[in-house]
Amino acid sequence: YTGKTGGQLFQERLLKLKVKDFQSIPVVIPENASVYDGICTMFLEDVGTLFVVNNNGKLIGIVSRKDLLRASMGKQDLESLPVSIIMTRMPNITVCSPEDSMLEVANKLISKQIDGLPVVKSDGDGGYDVIGRMTKTNITKAFAYIGVEEQS
Ligand code: ADP
Repeated sequence: YTGKTGGQLFQERLLKLKVKDFQSIPVVIPENASVYDGICTMFLEDVGTLFVVNNNGKLIGIVSRKDLLRASMGKQDLESLPVSIIMTRMPNITVCSPEDSMLEVANKLISKQIDGLPVVKSDGDGGYDVIGRMTKTNITKAFAYIGVEEQS
C-alpha cells in the first residue's frame, strides 16, 4: 500500500498524459487571408480556432469563432478585411509544447478562459513553428482515456 490518496493517484496519471499523445492537427491560415477566408476555413476544417502564420510559417496570431463573429457584425467588407487586423497576436498567445502534461494544458485553458492552444516548437530564433492543436475536446479525450484504463 502506497499511502497515496485517490486524488494523488489521479494527479500522477494526469501528469503522465502528454500533449504529444492527445494533440490534434493544427489548422493555419496566412496573415493576408481575409476574415471571409477565415470563416470558410473554420467551417470546412471543423475547428473553433485558427492559427495565423507569416510567410515563414511562424505563429503570429490566433482567431477564434467570436473574433470572426465580432468582425462580421460591422459593415466592413469581409473579403477585404485581413484576419491580421482582428486576430489576437504574439506575444499575447498562450502556447504549449509536446512534452507538456495534459494537466498543464487544462490549467492554461481554465486560467486564460480560452478554448484551445497551439502546440509549438521553438525555432531557436524567437519564433514558433505550429505542430499541433490542443482543445477542450482533447482534454475530454484524456479524461475518457483514464476512465477506460480503469475498467481494463
Ligand atoms: P471564442 O472567442 O470563440 O469564445 P476563445 O474563448 O478560445 O473562443 O477565445 C477568446 C479570445 O481569446 C479570442 O479573442 C481569441 O482570439 C483569444 N484566444 C484564443 N486562444 C488563445 C490563445 N491560445 N492565446 C491567447 N489568446 C487566445
